[in-house]
Amino acid sequence: MGGGFSRNMKVTIIGASVSGLFLAYLLAKEGVEVEIFEKEENAHGSLRTLIVTSKIYEAMEFIPEESILNKIKHLELSSRSQTLRLELKDPDLVIERGRLLSLLAHLAEEAGAKILFRHRFEGFAQFGKKTLVSLRNLKINEPIKVSTDVLVGADGALSTVGRFASLDGHPLVTLLQARVTLPQSMSADTTQIWFRPDQTKYFYWLIPESDRTAAVGLIANDSRQAEACLTEFLQSKDLEPFEFQSALVPMHRFRYGGDVLSEERNVFAVGDAAAQVKVTTVGGVVTGLHGARALTDAILNGRNYPKALRKLKIELNLHLLIRQILNRFSGEDYDQLIGMIHGRLKETLEEWNRDELTQSFLRLIWTEPRLIKLGAKALLKSFL
Ligand SMILES: Cc1cc2nc3c(=O)[nH]c(=O)nc-3n(C[C@H](O)[C@H](O)[C@H](O)COP(=O)(O)OP(=O)(O)OC[C@H]3O[C@@H](n4cnc5c(N)ncnc54)[C@H](O)[C@@H]3O)c2cc1C
Repeated sequence: MGGGFSRNMKVTIIGASVSGLFLAYLLAKEGVEVEIFEKEENAHGSLRTLIVTSKIYEAMEFIPEESILNKIKHLELSSRSQTLRLELKDPDLVIERGRLLSLLAHLAEEAGAKILFRHRFEGFAQFGKKTLVSLRNLKINEPIKVSTDVLVGADGALSTVGRFASLDGHPLVTLLQARVTLPQSMSADTTQIWFRPDQTKYFYWLIPESDRTAAVGLIANDSRQAEACLTEFLQSKDLEPFEFQSALVPMHRFRYGGDVLSEERNVFAVGDAAAQVKVTTVGGVVTGLHGARALTDAILNGRNYPKALRKLKIELNLHLLIRQILNRFSGEDYDQLIGMIHGRLKETLEEWNRDELTQSFLRLIWTEPRLIKLGAKALLKSFL
């Protein structure tokens, strides 16, 4: 963006989910004309139980009370032979995505943004500084064209805006989770994580939504692997699923240039559409909100979007570095890792959360230098 925001500038956003709605809210409250087009019927989205760190308060600058289902005070990590219980200084929040979207839609509309549901993005063309956006009104199955100054793809993992700009798309993973009754033996304030590298490079989780229900899931390379592993895991824990939630999530890459999608620098991507996802845990809510803040800064103040994203990118790159090491971990490595976590290292992990890796990374290594050795050993083993 050059020159910054002018009073009669118009911003068109594709996708009324977390990143798109938050961006619309931030821009509209500063007086920018904003229109959001969403192909679905409403802003509730498909059901999804999300867990986020308390950093969501910092990203949003308010507490989304209406969407909070539960607060998590403990994290229990298990490998083949080790178990570790961490007490989180700032509890994680379990959020119902539909409620968060309704809240954000309400805020965006109240600030003056216009949301048009049942409108699907189909393409764009650029005429100098203007962009002509092609959409389909799905209610009457008619094409429409909208002229805009700035176009933003907030249209998720399979971003059509990104693909239309000839990007090759992001590597994707499948996230599958089942809702189950919380077993009496498990506590409603504790998230459980199981590392089983022979089944998934990531981990299995159980996130209590309340003292009655929980979400149990995993991340896998494809949906078939996800289904087979989750079915077996649920059986092994004697858990009966009553609902499934699933979708593709994009993976952040080093030196990815898909945030700015046009030479004119007035077509952008944000959130999952720009793969603003922490690939250690495949969480994209807080990072998508930060992406929306960076883009707002770029649009309003004429800043360069990649520069405004620099802090977020450093954080995402650190997560990617750790993920690349963890991808090579065996069951034995996880046993060693969990066995190492006590004393000062445990305190550091309890104090810092996964949305502030930039601040905690060096401290973790400083506190326990054997972490470097363990990581290096895993990398070396994979090369051999
Ligand atoms: C089951 C599941 C559990 C998850 N759990 C967590 C978690 O615990 N913590 C966490 O941080 N993250 C989690 N994630 C990831 C998180 O949900 C995403 O990172 C986040 O929702 C991304 O938001 P977004 O607004 O960028 O994109 P999305 O939520 O994907 O929204 C994209 C929007 O664009 C619309 N759209 C798409 N194409 C078009 C088009 N052509 N025209 C018009 N509209 C279009 C879609 O309908 C959708 O509304 C989870 C994901 C899944 C699938």
